[in-house]
Amino acid sequence: MTKTHRLMILPGDGIGPEVMAEVKKLAEWLGRHADIGFETDEDHLGGASIEAYGVPLADAVLERCRRADAIIMGAVGGPQWDHVDYNIRPEAGLLKLRKELDLFANLRPALVFDALVDASSLKPEIVRGLDILIVRELTGGVYFGEPRGIETLPDGQKRGYNTQSYTTSEIRRIGRVAFDLARKRGNHVCSCEKANVMESGKLWREEITRLHDENYSDVTLNHMYADNCAMQLLRNPRQFDVIVTDNLFGDILSDEAAMLTGSLGMLPSASLGADGVPGLYEPVHGSAPDIAGQGKANPLATILSFAMALRYSLDRGDLANMIEKAVQDVLSSGMRTPDIMAAGCTEISTDAMGDALIAGLEKTMAEAA
Ligand code: NAD
Repeated sequence: MTKTHRLMILPGDGIGPEVMAEVKKLAEWLGRHADIGFETDEDHLGGASIEAYGVPLADAVLERCRRADAIIMGAVGGPQWDHVDYNIRPEAGLLKLRKELDLFANLRPALVFDALVDASSLKPEIVRGLDILIVRELTGGVYFGEPRGIETLPDGQKRGYNTQSYTTSEIRRIGRVAFDLARKRGNHVCSCEKANVMESGKLWREEITRLHDENYSDVTLNHMYADNCAMQLLRNPRQFDVIVTDNLFGDILSDEAAMLTGSLGMLPSASLGADGVPGLYEPVHGSAPDIAGQGKANPLATILSFAMALRYSLDRGDLANMIEKAVQDVLSSGMRTPDIMAAGCTEISTDAMGDALIAGLEKTMAEAA
């Protein structure tokens, strides 16, 4: 029997609604042609929600998100909301959603599609075939640790301070996510911290090692100082399969790894919580106000985020693989949105990219039949 999944769609601002339109088209197509059903709900987030409800994430919308199997988000923000109060700025809606659902694991794949190998700033022979997954702890560490603040010292100087802190359970739960994912990929985890100079890093290394020895000794584990990891990502990025790291180092290393692939319009992400909590899937890029409404946005990052939802929240890795292959094919055929345009290729619009992808899926299905 065909299983129906509940999708909560939050297009957001700027190019968000444009790229999300292509996801909706794809979901409708899958509902008609594959053995899967979607019950979709949709509402505002970010600036659009400020306009509609006065807040960047309305409580009623949050409750509907909780009831979904997966949440797909476009992007939030734009210059028109730059001067609203800090607590109700568009990004606050996204942060609230992540916090309320306790989405502690951020997954950022860095995948180099063959057709885009020249878009990387590194040499093709270094990045060809690259497929890394960075698992970043998202709800702990120095961004949330207490005490924090800026104080005035007796001599009149100021002192700004933050606290890097991780508990055993916080480390073990992100470690489990990384090891479980590695088992479905290259079976290799590289854990990154600064155990040489930070106690929180020392504990991180001890706990990841203990978790590995207890439950995951079949997975290859190595440890690396985060600064060395930053260098290795540029020197020999294909040595990595899954990288697991804390909130701060993950923030930096995931952006570095993303740039190995060369294009913001191609990068998906997922944020996962405990079992039974819906995952949040969103492109890495922002709302791109400079190109909004012009049909120039690349929808593939959001489409690939939807593919991640199929794989991680809806247990349909087969359909995710099919979509990823269709992306590969469409790029190989030379069809490109302006952001990834190259000599000899054909420039197409957001909408045409969505159509080309579906045409590719239709072809794959016809060949398989
Ligand atoms: P951005 O990612 O929106 O844009 C950076 C550059 O990349 C722009 O030139 C843009 O045109 C281009 N770009 C981005 N996505 C693209 C796509 N899919 N196709 C083609 N080109 C694309 O970053 P920014 O300009 O720094 O921020 C714009 C707004 O987005 C700000 O309000 C910012 O706060 C917000 N933002 C939101 C998120 C999010 O929703 N998660 C993330 C980053 C930035």
